[in-house]
Amino acid sequence: MKIRFTPEQEAFRAGCASWLQQQMEGPFADIRGIMSQTFRADRRLEWERVLGQARWSVIGWPEKYGGRDASLAEQVIFAEEYARSGAPGRVGHLGTELAGPTILHFGNDLQRERFLLPIAKGEEFWCQGYSEPNAGSDLSNVRTRARLEHGPNGPEWVIDGQKIWTSLAQFADWCFVVCRTEEGTKGPAGISYLLVPMKQKGVTVKPIRQITGDAEFNEVFFDGARTKAEYCVGNPGEGWKVAMGTLAFERGVSTLAQQMTFRNELERIVEAAKSNGAASDPLIRQRMAEAWVGLRIMRYSALRMLSRATTGSLGGEALTYKLHWASWRKKLGELAMDVAGAPGELCVGEGYELADLPYLYLFSRADTIYGGTNQIQRNIVAERALGLPKEARGDR
Ligand SMILES: Cc1cc2nc3c(=O)[nH]c(=O)nc-3n(C[C@H](O)[C@H](O)[C@H](O)COP(=O)(O)OP(=O)(O)OC[C@H]3O[C@@H](n4cnc5c(N)ncnc54)[C@H](O)[C@@H]3O)c2cc1C
Repeated sequence: MKIRFTPEQEAFRAGCASWLQQQMEGPFADIRGIMSQTFRADRRLEWERVLGQARWSVIGWPEKYGGRDASLAEQVIFAEEYARSGAPGRVGHLGTELAGPTILHFGNDLQRERFLLPIAKGEEFWCQGYSEPNAGSDLSNVRTRARLEHGPNGPEWVIDGQKIWTSLAQFADWCFVVCRTEEGTKGPAGISYLLVPMKQKGVTVKPIRQITGDAEFNEVFFDGARTKAEYCVGNPGEGWKVAMGTLAFERGVSTLAQQMTFRNELERIVEAAKSNGAASDPLIRQRMAEAWVGLRIMRYSALRMLSRATTGSLGGEALTYKLHWASWRKKLGELAMDVAGAPGELCVGEGYELADLPYLYLFSRADTIYGGTNQIQRNIVAERALGLPKEARGDR
């Protein structure tokens, strides 16, 4: 495991840090440090385009698709500097972190040529159409269906069904949809992975209001929605392995950026504790120290995970990582609320506008749910890392 960076890599760090600092202190100062997922969305979409034009959006991708062919170490450095600069959460992350890498890895040349550059340039945004009202943890229970039709526009998939909890669907131009394309199949067989345009008559997006006050996620209804036959990633009926591949990309380099964001959050908590006196409470001090220790452990296990990934041998640590950070951040949210004290229960602005610490507390409740709940992660660790017998289920 290599933890130190070379002088060339440190020079790269200085270069991207200075660019980010210029942006965050200059033209994009108004969106620096924003925690909410959807606040100032118009400006954040603009920020995505500026990142894309400067080729900082997807630096690990090949140059011909808008990246910089950056090494893993450079990607880690950029991710860290991005978060350190206070740049806002990426509205384009479902394209840059999930759809793009999936198309690069599992797609064909036609799909790569059509989709990758617009993602890299911040011109097209994506959402993830996995969960349904009866298919969350048990994703292979999806009921959304698609059939091939030969019409005046050539062969097309026609999609009917409903997705739920679809983050950022209101901004998305495209959705990667996991759906059943073979009648009579159940479980992982007969599922396909389709790329579906969102701005069409057969797609309706209805926001769902969250306890943070945001409506970051949505219900999405497909009612005779259409997409070209050639926009199926992998073979029709074999989309399950593509869908699982997408989830594996969630454990990539962005984990390091995420940690820098966590560090910024812990720093805000420490500052608040110092200024309101909570820092003199011995139990609060102890919890702040524990949070810091947890963050360091997370950093070294992420670096170990990434350095192993380069040799193609992801070990058990990749399976425990989500469990670790999600539980850690949920506790951080609780600490934030205890530091904020009674004033943390009040809204600070118009309507339901929350201060940073209560926002962190309320949003962190979701960390142990999305990207695989803690219970499901424990099942995965038990079965894949410890080799315990598979969970008993009615359908196997
Ligand atoms: C903020 C947020 C954003 C999201 N964004 C998206 C998105 O963009 N696209 C998308 O497709 N989905 C998204 N999701 C949905 C997310 O993937 C699901 O919520 C998650 O997979 C859990 O599914 P579920 O909500 O249907 O809960 P269920 O699967 O119904 O689970 C309910 C409870 O039962 C437990 N449980 C279920 N099965 C088992 C089992 N076998 N063993 C032990 N316990 C079990 C679960 O752990 C959970 O506690 C998002 C969710 C959140 C909170």
